[in-house]
Amino acid sequence: MMKKKDNKKHIVVFTGAGVSAESGLKTFRDSDGLWENYRIEEVATPEAWERNPKLVLEFYNMRRKQCMEAKPNNAHLLIAQLEKHYNVSVITQNIDDLHERAGSTNVLHLHGEIMKVRSSVDENLIYPINKWNLELGEKCEKGSQLRPHIVWFGEPVPMMEKAIEIVQTADVFIVVGSSLVVYPAAGLIFYAPTDIPKYLIDPGEFSSTITKNLIHIKKKATEGMQELYELLTKNVWV
Ligand code: NAD
Repeated sequence: MMKKKDNKKHIVVFTGAGVSAESGLKTFRDSDGLWENYRIEEVATPEAWERNPKLVLEFYNMRRKQCMEAKPNNAHLLIAQLEKHYNVSVITQNIDDLHERAGSTNVLHLHGEIMKVRSSVDENLIYPINKWNLELGEKCEKGSQLRPHIVWFGEPVPMMEKAIEIVQTADVFIVVGSSLVVYPAAGLIFYAPTDIPKYLIDPGEFSSTITKNLIHIKKKATEGMQELYELLTKNVWV
């Protein structure tokens, strides 16, 4: 449970691939269900790892290289700056580290982190990686092949319980750049208290009945976050 350090309100920001799109990292809903031209079953499942670990490593090596070359955009920066006025928890579906590099200090990654690797036999052996490539033959201290520290499709999402606890204590809930279709993460919005203000910043189409008190700002992340930042900092609810 998030501890109240002071009487500042608690903003929970839930982000998806769309928040990093303007940093040059592609979402996959926008490319016909492909992720950088790969079918996700080929590269982002435990079966793919069993079948062709070299291809899986190559795919994530490219994602890591892109991530290292990308820079946080103004949406990441404004989310970090909200910390001047509010207690802010960021819960992201993204595997990139752009929120951290923008200055957010409280980031929970639901689907893992591209800048970390882990043992393929002991999921608690997690290591930072500071180069772009991970190769076959690179092993953990127990002698097993290292894999990307990523939650693959079909694997449990261990951080979900913690994320639910955080969302339940929100005073304001913001979604930025998520199609809200990848479950269980997309279901987080339903754990937010019913009567708090909720904002969804995404240029896509959404049903108007997703949840109560939801305002859809139908704009790109940078533009929508600028608008919302001004609104939230003009009326700081402390
Ligand atoms: P998604 O690909 O399903 O949906 C992306 C959403 O972003 C869409 O609703 C789209 O309308 C919106 N979008 C596109 N451009 C935008 C912009 N400039 N500003 C704001 N919104 C924009 O993404 P998802 O819902 O996050 O789920 C996909 C899964 O793929 C995630 O679980 C994540 O692990 C993974 N993924 C991660 C990254 C990353 O780490 N940067 C990139 C691609 C996919």
